[in-house]
Amino acid sequence: MPFSGPGMSRLTVAVASGKGGTGKTLVATNLALAIARAGSPVALVDCDADAPNDALFLHPGDAAVAPVEVLLPVVDQEACILCGACRNACAFGAIRILGGTVMVFPELCHNCGACTSVCVPGAITEELSRVGEVEWGRLMSSAADPAGLDVITGRLDIGDVKTPTVIRAARKRAAVLHRAVTVLDAPPGVACAAVASLRDADVLVLVTEPTPFGLHDLELAVELAREMEIPVGVVINRDGTGGTDVVGYCAKESIPVLARIPFDRRVAAIYADGGLVIDEHPDGEAWFGGIWESVRRLVEEAYR
Ligand code: SF4
Ligand code: SF4
Repeated sequence: MPFSGPGMSRLTVAVASGKGGTGKTLVATNLALAIARAGSPVALVDCDADAPNDALFLHPGDAAVAPVEVLLPVVDQEACILCGACRNACAFGAIRILGGTVMVFPELCHNCGACTSVCVPGAITEELSRVGEVEWGRLMSSAADPAGLDVITGRLDIGDVKTPTVIRAARKRAAVLHRAVTVLDAPPGVACAAVASLRDADVLVLVTEPTPFGLHDLELAVELAREMEIPVGVVINRDGTGGTDVVGYCAKESIPVLARIPFDRRVAAIYADGGLVIDEHPDGEAWFGGIWESVRRLVEEAYR
């Protein structure tokens, strides 16, 4: 049955973690497949634009690619009268006058256009500059994947810093598809890129491991989710290792534990081979089908 929730025809599920290496991609890819197999068309968006790898596990077919570009100011030094208006208009310190030359710092520029609009002599024009790309393709419908799964990848160009811009472009591509469920594989951490990925998510699945570092970073991620007012549930990966009481923390904070995936060398081996745990591990279907059921319950409770 396609997803239908309390007053919702579509659902956006973000999968995130306070730090890298907790199994976030494992959960996002297998969960997306579990949702499709339960009957809801899914768009999986790989927002981990610095190092995206969801597509390596899912192998979407007939991939299409589009560049992500931003408008950057370009200064004609001949036409410039060094009035300083552009520098004063820039709220981000991205345009400065150094040694009688107006300089633009693309890594600081937010592409707001303010400098161009205040330059009376018209010395500033804007040019498109590439920062990354979005790739998208579909797992073909089959008996195993009746609802279909679109995989959208945001990929930042090497050396560029405009991760949130690439993430927004990838999410925009997913929005056009109008799938019943969108799964966002967010970058780890709580910085700008994570915020761009979580914005407008209906529910957040935080993946953690039961170690002191895992718990510390989980606490930061929970704080961010609360600031953004997103209902949150936790998946404990490699349960049984680390010895840290994540379950106790979740109980204290009234956060539901959606699943506990035990430490199992077979899971690590399947993942390392680029395989799908839902297909290759005897408990895979139960784990990820169970997470989807728990997410649905969480949504029912949060929005009723
Ligand atoms: S606003 Fe235009 S003319 Fe004035 S300093 Fe900037 S680039 Fe030069
Ligand atoms: S476009 Fe906006 S952020 Fe970029 S340099 Fe101009 S004023 Fe600054």
